[in-house]
Amino acid sequence: MPAFPQCAACPYDWSERACRSPRGKGPENCPTLRERELARESVRILEADPALMAFARQASLQEADGYSGREKGYAAVRPAKTRLEEVAEFAKRMGYTRLGLTFCGGLRAEGLAVHRFLEAKGFEVVSLMCKAGRVPKSALGIGPEGQVDTRCDSETMCNPVLQALGANRHGVELNVLLGLCVGHDSLFIKHAEAPTTVLAVKDRLLGHNPLAAVYQLTQYYRGLLAPEPD
Ligand code: SF4
Repeated sequence: MPAFPQCAACPYDWSERACRSPRGKGPENCPTLRERELARESVRILEADPALMAFARQASLQEADGYSGREKGYAAVRPAKTRLEEVAEFAKRMGYTRLGLTFCGGLRAEGLAVHRFLEAKGFEVVSLMCKAGRVPKSALGIGPEGQVDTRCDSETMCNPVLQALGANRHGVELNVLLGLCVGHDSLFIKHAEAPTTVLAVKDRLLGHNPLAAVYQLTQYYRGLLAPEPD
């Protein structure tokens, strides 16, 4: 067993895990049982920053509010809200008035729909599409052979760093990501000054639902589990 945490492979039933109950159980590399200082440090980090603490507190309250039937106990709770609603509710809880919508050109129709939804909820919306800035992929050292359209002389790159700079410049209080590519999302999150939440991720093949492959990983998508060739 590796020394680092592997909660995803925890051998204990959800109901009897150490992270859920003071008398619960965990494996040798359980971060709850073996790395108690991390839990203390995490609370210290929140306590040292009132704004961060408020953010964490409201996120947790939003989580609970996402269920109905809580007064009847855990077995009776039911999910009650879409993520779209929760993004707007959380932003309201935090008192934000200006949101950033950072979206992919491949989801421009969805981008407009989300833009209108957020405006209908009373927010100012700063939206930036991935191709904004029209920087060619040659700036990344990529020629036509590495472009999506190999016959195009100069394809515009997705520019998540520019998207972050634009959101930063225009005083966005919370960034909402919609459909950025793998890696482009990482670059945006790294360069954005305001916190970022993800409304939806990109999956070109599965209608932006990557979990479809996960749900079928032992069945129709079992071929994905094949070892990588050397
Ligand atoms: S924290 Fe410990 S008990 Fe909880 S899932 Fe991870 S390994 Fe299992």
